[in-house]
Amino acid sequence: VISEAADELSVDAYVIGGFVRDHILERGEPKDIDIVAIGSGIELAKKVSEKLPHKPKVQVFKNFGTAMLRSGDMEIEFVGARKESYRKDSRKPIVEDGSLEDDQNRRDFTINALALKLNENGFGDLLDPFNGYEDLKNRIIRTPLDPDITYSDDPLRMYRAIRFATQLNFMIEAESLKAIKRNKDRIKIISKERILDELNKIMLSDKPSKGFALLYKTGLLKKILPELTALQGIDEVEGQKHKDNFWHTLEVVDNISENTSDLWLRWAALLHDIGKAPTKKFHKKIGWTFHGHEFVGAKMVFKLFKRLRLPLNEKMKFVQKMVLMSSRPIAIADDSVTDSAVRRLIFDAGDHIEDLMTLCEADITTKNPKRYRKYHN
Ligand code: ATP
Repeated sequence: VISEAADELSVDAYVIGGFVRDHILERGEPKDIDIVAIGSGIELAKKVSEKLPHKPKVQVFKNFGTAMLRSGDMEIEFVGARKESYRKDSRKPIVEDGSLEDDQNRRDFTINALALKLNENGFGDLLDPFNGYEDLKNRIIRTPLDPDITYSDDPLRMYRAIRFATQLNFMIEAESLKAIKRNKDRIKIISKERILDELNKIMLSDKPSKGFALLYKTGLLKKILPELTALQGIDEVEGQKHKDNFWHTLEVVDNISENTSDLWLRWAALLHDIGKAPTKKFHKKIGWTFHGHEFVGAKMVFKLFKRLRLPLNEKMKFVQKMVLMSSRPIAIADDSVTDSAVRRLIFDAGDHIEDLMTLCEADITTKNPKRYRKYHN
């Protein structure tokens, strides 16, 4: 239908971005399709709607020059090919009409810049100026242009690179990774909401540890979750060491992710030990202790959620409670809880008791944080 509509309007039209990438990777059913018209995307959307039997409503976003319509479960977005340029203080570009090439130049990664022609003449031709197909086959995240420019223009792309590497299990190309390290301070122009969207996508991947390790290595994690990076490291006093609670945490997050796709339970796993950095002490008689970390940690969760503007709703309270309770996983799991505060919390857990047990299980089945650090190096 899009092909016919484009031919009737005599405009060239292409499907571009995530749809093409996921189609080549055979990654399940697509949810949205992005169409680029060499001309007016809005006119093309209207024409497509006319030709569809159910004549879906076309939502027009005049300011952006885009239009969207729904067909079944699918959202189809139409945009006229454009050229973008950036100012230093904003990720909102200055936009002008452009060619397909200009439009591919503005894309974040080579694997997201692939375009398939939809017109009858040339239907199915793959337009791939940056060897994105090759990068897909080799599982590489690479920017179409100089990575320093790509990341500095729109610093959210640094998070997107790490998010795609995690979701797709791809590698970020070396120059790109270095550029992320160099440009990490630019992330300050990005809103917390946008960053959180990406963080949540990392969290919902099969192996979230991959994303968190990359965020840690590039220095981006310290900017958003310094409480977490503070857990990294092993101290030694009088020959006694404690475990590296950062790498341990990543192991717990992966463990829990094997058992649940619940985002908030995964958050609880990520934050379950954050009280340990500020409470760490060495006692001559008993060695390393983190006494009281559960209560400190629960307060930290509250502040952290507020800072990230995560809603202070039931979910948040749930994560906080989980953090408080997960401090005694072994005791809870083997029924040997003596601490009355913890007993009360277990009682309070109500419907969350199953989730709590899953979290405990994830914690006590961790084996070797060192192995985790090595694996991610
Ligand atoms: P997913 O739907 O899994 O998030 P996607 O690739 O469809 O993947 P979108 O955020 O919907 O991701 O973006 C659609 C396309 O728009 C991308 O494939 C990419 O070509 C382009 N794009 C999106 N965000 C940016 C950005 N910040 N900078 C450059 N190009 C972008």
